[in-house]
Amino acid sequence: MPVPLIDTHTHLGDPVFDADREAVLRRAAAAGVCSVVVVTESHDEIARNLALSERHPEFRLAFGQYPTRLDRTEARQFVESIRAHRERLVAIGEVGLDRWKVQEEDQRTTQRELFSQFIDLGLELDLPLNVHSRSAGSHAIELLLQRGARRVQMHAFDGKHSKAKAAVEAGYFFSVSPSIVRSNQQRKLVNLLPMGCLLLETDSPVLGPLREERNEPANVAVSLGVIAELKGVCVEEVRERVFDNTVRLYGEAILG
Ligand SMILES: [Zn+2]
Repeated sequence: MPVPLIDTHTHLGDPVFDADREAVLRRAAAAGVCSVVVVTESHDEIARNLALSERHPEFRLAFGQYPTRLDRTEARQFVESIRAHRERLVAIGEVGLDRWKVQEEDQRTTQRELFSQFIDLGLELDLPLNVHSRSAGSHAIELLLQRGARRVQMHAFDGKHSKAKAAVEAGYFFSVSPSIVRSNQQRKLVNLLPMGCLLLETDSPVLGPLREERNEPANVAVSLGVIAELKGVCVEEVRERVFDNTVRLYGEAILG
C-alpha cells in the first residue's frame, strides 16, 4: 500500500462542489487522498463546513478570515468560533496578507493587525496557520517570525526563494499546487526548497493544472509528479517525504 496523500488546502465547502462533492471525494480517494484540509474565507462558511464534515470523514477543518476581508467584527467572530471549535480544527486558515488586492496603506495596516491576531491565537491554541501571502511573501514571513509563530504552512507562495529562506530555517512548510505545471516561478522555487519543507495542496476549485478547469483534490498527484521530476527522485520517495512533513506540521489528527 502506498502511503496516503493529503491535500492541505482546499475550498471544498464551496457551493461550486455542491452538485458532485461525493464524486469529487471518490476520485480523490481513488488517487490515494485520505484527508483534505478545508479552509474558510468568511464566517458564514463555518456552519456549512461543520455540517459537511459530519457527512464527509475526509474533511479536516480550518477556520480563518481571508486576508482581503478586513472586517474587525468578523475577525472577532472568527476568534470566538475558533476557540469554541478548537477540538474540531486542524488549523487556522486561510489567513495572511494580500498586497495584490489590498494596496492602500491604511488597509494594509488593518490587514497586518488582523493577521497578527490569528498568529497569536495559533500560538495560544497550538494550531498550525494555513497562510495566504499573495504578493506579500516576505511581509508575511517577517510578521510570522516577529510574533514567534512555530507551526506554519505557506500556501501558494509566490515570492522568491531568497525570501523563503528565513521561513525554511524557522521550520515553516510550503505547499505545492497543481498550477506548478504552468508556472516557472513555482518550479524555480520548489527546485531550490529542501524536500523536508514541502506539502501538497490544490486550493480547489482554483490553481488547477489548467486555469480554465475546476481544480479538485485528486490533482495533488500532479504536484507530486512535478516535485519528483524537479528533485530527480521517484514519486514514491516524494510521497513518503511529503507525508512525513504533513504529519510533522499537523500531527496525527490529520490522518483521522
Ligand atoms: Zn485558498
